[in-house]
Order: sequence, then C-alpha cells, then structure tokens
Amino acid sequence: MTRIRQQNVTAAQWSSNGEALGAIDLTQPENDPFATSVFSVAVQRERLPSNVFEKLQAALDGGGTLDPALADAVATAMKDWALEKGATHFTHMFQPLTGSTAEKHDSFFSPAEEGRALAGFTGKELIQGEPDASSFPTGGVRATFEARGYTAWDPTSPAFILENPNGALLCIPTAFASWTGEALDAKIPLLRSMDALSRSAIKALRLLGDEDSKRVFTTVGPEQEYFLIDEQYFFERPDLIYTGRTLLGAKPPKGHELDDHYFGSIPERILACMLESELEMRKLGIPVKTRHNEVAPNQYEIAPVFENSNVGSDHQQLMMQVMESVARRYGLVCLLHEKPFAGVNGSGKHNNWSMGTDTGTNLLDPGDTPADNVHFLFFCAAVIQAVNKHQGLLRASVANIGQDHRLGANEAPPAIISIFLGAELNKVFEAIATGSGDPHTPASFLELGATVLPKLPMHGGDRNRTSPFAFTGNKFEFRALGSSMSLAFPNTVLNTIAAEAIDELADQLAAKKDDGMDTAEAVIEVVKDSYLANRQICFDGDNYAEEWHAEAEQRGLKNLRTSPDALPEVLSEQSVKAFGDYDVLSERELESRYEVWLEQYALRANIEAETTFSIAKTMILPAALRYLALIAESGVSAIEGELRGLVDELVGALGELEAANAYPEDLEGMELAIHARDKQLAAMAQVREAADKLERVVSDDLWPLPKYEEMLFIK
Ligand code: ADP
Ligand code: MG
Repeated sequence: MTRIRQQNVTAAQWSSNGEALGAIDLTQPENDPFATSVFSVAVQRERLPSNVFEKLQAALDGGGTLDPALADAVATAMKDWALEKGATHFTHMFQPLTGSTAEKHDSFFSPAEEGRALAGFTGKELIQGEPDASSFPTGGVRATFEARGYTAWDPTSPAFILENPNGALLCIPTAFASWTGEALDAKIPLLRSMDALSRSAIKALRLLGDEDSKRVFTTVGPEQEYFLIDEQYFFERPDLIYTGRTLLGAKPPKGHELDDHYFGSIPERILACMLESELEMRKLGIPVKTRHNEVAPNQYEIAPVFENSNVGSDHQQLMMQVMESVARRYGLVCLLHEKPFAGVNGSGKHNNWSMGTDTGTNLLDPGDTPADNVHFLFFCAAVIQAVNKHQGLLRASVANIGQDHRLGANEAPPAIISIFLGAELNKVFEAIATGSGDPHTPASFLELGATVLPKLPMHGGDRNRTSPFAFTGNKFEFRALGSSMSLAFPNTVLNTIAAEAIDELADQLAAKKDDGMDTAEAVIEVVKDSYLANRQICFDGDNYAEEWHAEAEQRGLKNLRTSPDALPEVLSEQSVKAFGDYDVLSERELESRYEVWLEQYALRANIEAETTFSIAKTMILPAALRYLALIAESGVSAIEGELRGLVDELVGALGELEAANAYPEDLEGMELAIHARDKQLAAMAQVREAADKLERVVSDDLWPLPKYEEMLFIK
C-alpha cells in the first residue's frame, strides 16, 4: 500500500489565482472576454480602410486569393492593434508534420537613428515568412541543401494575441510549404480538401435543384479528453516527462469500477484550473462550451462549439496549448497522451464532422421537408460510400504510437472502422434498399416512393458509444482520434473522400436525370445502389464484442491493429488516386507524410524503450536490491525467495530490452518500425511486468516512483 505523498501546491497558493478571476463579474455580458485577443472581423471592420475591408472579406467569402496590394494596409492595422494589446513580437504559427505547432518570434522593433527604435510590420512580412526549415521533418520532400521553407499567411484563420506575464505575442496562423510549393504542414492539405469538398458539393447541389449556395464548408467540433495530475508526481516520473505516459506502474486497488468519477462533481482546484483555461480560450475566440469529468479518475473532457474545419483545427491546437500552460499555474500537469496509465481508460478526441452551405443549411441534417430529406439522403449515402471505400485510410489517419494502446487493444473504439447509423436511419436505408421495412418500421417508411419521402427523425436511434464512426442526429462523429492529435489530417481525409463519393453519386444522378427521371426518384435509386454496395460498413451492435471482430472479418472489413499495419494505407492506390484527383496531396507529399509518421513511430518507441531501461535499471533495481538486503538481514526466508525470483526476472528482462535497443544503425523505415513494435515494445512489456510485481512487494518507503494511487486520486 502507498502512503500518499504531500502535494506540492496548497489550496492557498492556487486560490489566489481564483480570486483574481473572481474579481471579474462574468455574469455581465459586457465583461465577456470572448475574442478580445482576436483580430476578428469586427476589429478588422473598425480598423481597416473600408475599401480594404470589403476586398478582404470578398476574397475570404469567395474562397479566392488575396490581392497582395491589400497586405500593407492589413499589416499596419494588425500591428497597431497588436501594439495596443501589448505585443512586442509577432510570429507565423504553423503546423509541421510532427503534429505540433511551431513558431519563431520576430520583434516589431528595429533600431533607428540616435538609439531609438521604430515599430514596423509590412505586408510582405505579414504574407510570407522564411523560417529555417531544415530541422522540421519533411520525409524527403526537401533535401537539406534546399533548407528554405516558406510560411504563408492564412487570412481565413484570424490572427490573435498570446499573453504571457512578461509580454505578449501576435500570432499569425500560416501555412508552411517548400520552395517548390509542396505542403510541409497539416494546414495546406486541409484547406485544399475543404475547397475540393466545396466544389463537389456545389456541383451536386445544383443537380439537386439548389441554385443559391455558392460554397460548402466542412465543420468540426472536437471533444477533448485529458488527465490532470499533481505536478509534483509528474516531475518525479522520468517516463511522464520524456514520453507523456507511465511506462511502469502497478494498477491501483481502486480504478473506475465504482463509476464515481464520470459526470461527478468537479473538485475545487480542478474547476478553478478549468475556469481559468476557459477564460483564456474565450479571449482567443475559442467557443468552449462543455466540461465534465470523464470515466477514469482524474480524467476530464472539454468541448467547444463547432467551427469551420480550418479554424476549428487551429483552435484545437491552441486549446491544447492553453490547457497545458494554465494547468501549471495550479500545480497541475495536463496529460494529453492517449494512454498515460496502463489498465486505466485512455483519452481520445471525438471529431464531430458535417458539411454546411453558405446559405446556412447543414447537409447532414435530415430536415423537415421532403426536399431536405432528398438532399440529406444523398449526402449521407455519399459519406457511407466514402467511409466504406477508404476505411483503411481513415484508420491510418488516426494512427500514432499512443493510439496503439487504444485502437486494436481492449479499448474504445476498435481498430475496425464501421458506421453506426442508429435504429431509425438504419430502417430508412434498409427500407430504401429492399423496398420494404421490417414489422417495426414506422408505417411512413414503408410507403417510400419516389415522391413521398418520410420526415426523418432528428435524433434517430440511441447512442452507441462503441462505434468509431456514428451518425448523431445532424453530423457524423469520428470517434477514433487520439487525445494528442491534430484534427487536420483526419479532417483532410474525411473531406477528400467525401468529395470523391459525392462526385461519384452526382455523376450517377446526372445520368438518370438526363434519361428523364425525376430528381427525387433518381436520388432514391442512386442512394439505393450505393447503400446496397456499401452497407457492409454499417454496424449498430457492440463494437467491443469478440463476435463483431469475427463478423467484421467475414464481411471483409479491415482490422489494422497497430500503426505499422495502418500507415501503408496512406499510400494505397486508391488513397493516392483520391488525394491526387482532388488536388489535396500529390503522391510525393503523401510519401513524405508516410515516411515522417513511420519515423515518428519508431523514434518514439525508441525513446520509450530507452527510458524504460534507464528507470528499471537505475531506480527500480536498486530499490529492489536494497529491500532484498533488508530482508536477508531479517532472516525471513519465505519473502526472500519470492523477492529474489522477481529480481532475477527483472534482470533477465532488462537484458532482453538492452539487446532490443541495440539495433543495427542501418535499420530504417518499415523494418525499423516493426523492430520497434515486435522487439522493443515487447521487451518493455516484460520489464514492466517484473517491475510492477516488485512494486507490490518492495517496501513503499524504498519505492522511487510516485504510484498510480497518487497520480490518479490526488485532485
Ligand atoms: P450531443 O452530441 O450531446 O447531442 P451536440 O449535438 O451539441 O451534443 O454536439 C456535440 C459536439 O458536436 C459538440 O462538440 C459540437 O460542437 C459538435 N457539433 C454539433 N453540430 C455540429 C456540426 N454541424 N458540425 C460539426 N460538429 C458539430
Ligand atoms: Mg461525443
């Protein structure tokens, strides 16, 4: 059993932060800090010359390119605003292929005559930066002699001010490309995929009789899970510091079996931290909405209201950054790893996704009129077709080493991609497919004819928490993202494959209309054919059940358990074709991503393996030996035998891990990733098993690491 070590931070220390916040009366709308740190449309309208403002908005609304002549005026207004907000520096913030964000700060000030300084910021500086890109992974797109990369201003994601106790920084969301124009980041493909989807959807909407919409936007609303633990324990655990997860640690006597944490009342220090995080996020224009406890002890969730995919994705990166930095003010550390504690529920990020027109229609909303339902059925069928065709690619889009402890292991959701439609929608599609419903199908669905379409229920069916891809009323929820991941690539994939499927269905629709068929009748036929060809992907049952895994295999669905299994899907023939046809990612750009992600997997596995070795050898083994000496002295031989056995087991496992870690230098790519998975991670598991057994035996006061009890139950 463990003594619980004293906490680092006392209530008195953190409540002073709470008091400072408490001084703002947030019940008054005029005190709401929402977007006060954002160079928002409202600020732009106020500060830009009206002709500049109008041209900028027109370019943004139309999805067109920006006249460089406008840039100087925008830069000046942005700089003046930023200086008033206390910013001394600016940065082009971008998202390299590592999945994190990168920034290089430049001062607004340059030396002038007589020892004075002048603040300047030109349109050229706004539009383009040239960070030395040689240290970002590019997967071979850019050889080191072509070290330059360019950052380009993304005017569709607003600039903002990041505050620090000692100053402030103007952050300009940017894209990052090589000098040959290849995307070296996560943002460019996302923007390209949004354009692609808009083109396809508008074309389809015209066929469906919509003459008004000019653009279709994809939307994303993430739900982020995370842990908060006391920072004292974090700093005593090299594994958390280096890898974000505990590489060793026995399961505590209490887990989440009592279900006493989920939706429970939020402890005071935690709530204080959340309130301050949310206030910071609101200033940054992130529309945070809900918070609650999650299933595991010390696990929580935060969710903003949905936004367009590009802004939502940028905001999500920013949210994670704010959560991590604000936690420290409360003596806490925010863990965003997918599986920080073995044997305890991990953290994911649900990705709610939909498509909406510039005229305000959500294309995945069943709607009230038969006409709305025709549109809905068309786009919904396209999503089913896309997900079935590209199930492997979707699985690959959420692959990383942390995810391998969730997907494909005994945790939600499974590595097999399937779609949950819900009972009502399922009946509708089945009725369309077979021309008749089952005895439980509401009468209106049985009368499905070409022109008489049922009013579809808005919240069809019950919730199925086990499904990786669920229809939830007016959107699809892709539930397989990991908690630490950027939203950019999974949404790039969703947009691209949906664009392709919409086009395929639209071509069939056009052909039927050319043959003189009525639109609604033609849609039903197209939907019927598509659903019949793709309904193998639909599954409403328990996704965790062994029977499902067997059935999925029979259906021919892919079950890609680990990252090395999944990543090659990025380069499959049909992935390359879809990304290429829709100008989202060239084959070379895809190859570079594949290489970088595979390399990241192997590098991270190696760091975990080295860290496990070092902790076990220099912390666990000495503690066990000290205890062994103590026992030997006491002469109680029964315990001595058990302990010796465990020490031998640990020493043996350490030998294997050391051997696995000493792999030949020329091992690389997939071979290295497989070595990491099958040799290093396997040997780590052996070391862990021995160490965790020792943890249950060795005297608690000799144990060198904080235990699960402490990390999970101190709030
Ligand atoms: P619930 O799932 O409990 O019904 P909501 O419908 O409010 O709750 O949505 C849950 C999540 O789905 C939120 O993060 C929200 O931002 C997101 N969401 C809602 N509508 C959309 C949409 N049209 N596109 C993308 N995400 C959405
Ligand atoms: Mg959800």
